[in-house]
Amino acid sequence: MSEYQVNEKGYYGDFGGAYIPEMLYPNVEELRQQYIAIIQSEGFKQEFDQLLRDYVGRPSPLYLAKRLSERYGANIFLKREDLNHTGAHKINNTIGQILLAERLGKRRIIAETGAGQHGVATATVCALKGLQCVVYMGAVDIERQAPNVARMKMMGAEVIAAESGSKTLKDATNEALRDWINNPVDTHYIIGSVVGPHPYPDMVARFQSIISAETRKQLQEKTGIETPDYALACVGGGSNAAGMFYHFLDEPSVKLIAVEAAGKGVYSGESAATTLLGREGVLHGSRSILMQTDDGQVIEPYSISAGLDYPGIGPQHAWLYKSGRATYASATDDEAMQAGLLLTQLEGIIPAIESAHALAQLEKMTFKGDENVVICLSGRGDKDLDNYMKYFGF
Ligand SMILES: *Cc1c(COP(=O)(O)O)cnc(C)c1O
Repeated sequence: MSEYQVNEKGYYGDFGGAYIPEMLYPNVEELRQQYIAIIQSEGFKQEFDQLLRDYVGRPSPLYLAKRLSERYGANIFLKREDLNHTGAHKINNTIGQILLAERLGKRRIIAETGAGQHGVATATVCALKGLQCVVYMGAVDIERQAPNVARMKMMGAEVIAAESGSKTLKDATNEALRDWINNPVDTHYIIGSVVGPHPYPDMVARFQSIISAETRKQLQEKTGIETPDYALACVGGGSNAAGMFYHFLDEPSVKLIAVEAAGKGVYSGESAATTLLGREGVLHGSRSILMQTDDGQVIEPYSISAGLDYPGIGPQHAWLYKSGRATYASATDDEAMQAGLLLTQLEGIIPAIESAHALAQLEKMTFKGDENVVICLSGRGDKDLDNYMKYFGF
């Protein structure tokens, strides 16, 4: 068993566990007892693989970005999660969880969403399976993210506004948890990143591990060697990075770099650079590293990219950081926007602003010449056109 994977108690080193109210215990325990057996069963694997292939469009290509490579002096490969159905890596996880929910006999799905990306990915698989879908979303976010609200409704989901607190993601999360406590028998709660109580971080990482499983094969075909010198990904909660790192964790020759959002500057007070600003504590049901005040109140994060605007990181990332296995870097709004524009103009690919944070790290690296670098291009930038237009004044 890898020292970087979850142990039988649900921990990654000092982090993880299940810090949940008593009333949620039966739901989480049911999941914990069954998830491994279900996702390792032949029937599950067959249907998961078939949907990833025919519905999501996997394997996603591994693209050698020639002009980007010339610019930085290394072989830069982009893992094209942006080409997935619904435009990002999130669908890998929601497909996995909907198949799991079916096998647990759950007919009703709930989720929480901030910017709406995870809500859309959840509504999508519920339409695919004909299951009832309820998405909790902060009232403020509902207003800010109208197109995603429309997508969810068109797919038949019910979108419920969270009207308490700051009316954003954490309030939506509270409402979703309350719903799950009240509907323990028929409902499955789909969490969208490698966060939450055990077994969620491990379960989501397993579903996203398809990213590095494919990458190994594709690198072998293209370069004759399965492992890159570097693997990079952006980190909000950390699911695309967990997927990109998964099959390289025990390959010490692969340098792993995770890039957080530094917003207007790490120490500007408007940032989401969790490892630099955070301390150990409990957030959303697990022990990890989070941004908090001296008396333990969660600090409201900020990033220009809605998907990275999260005050913590998943427990596996906290451990990869503390153990030194992975490096945690950060990119500001400005650095990410410039990197997004550069990719667009050098390669004709408009990245999600989240993914552009990972690309921004290239500016800060020096290469020996022939190194192979894999970057997870977690999503496409169509959803961010408004932001790009405002920023660059197109
Ligand atoms: C949601 C999202 C992210 C951040 O989530 P992780 O769990 O950290 O991967 C990154 N990129 C895109 C395109 C997203 O939609």
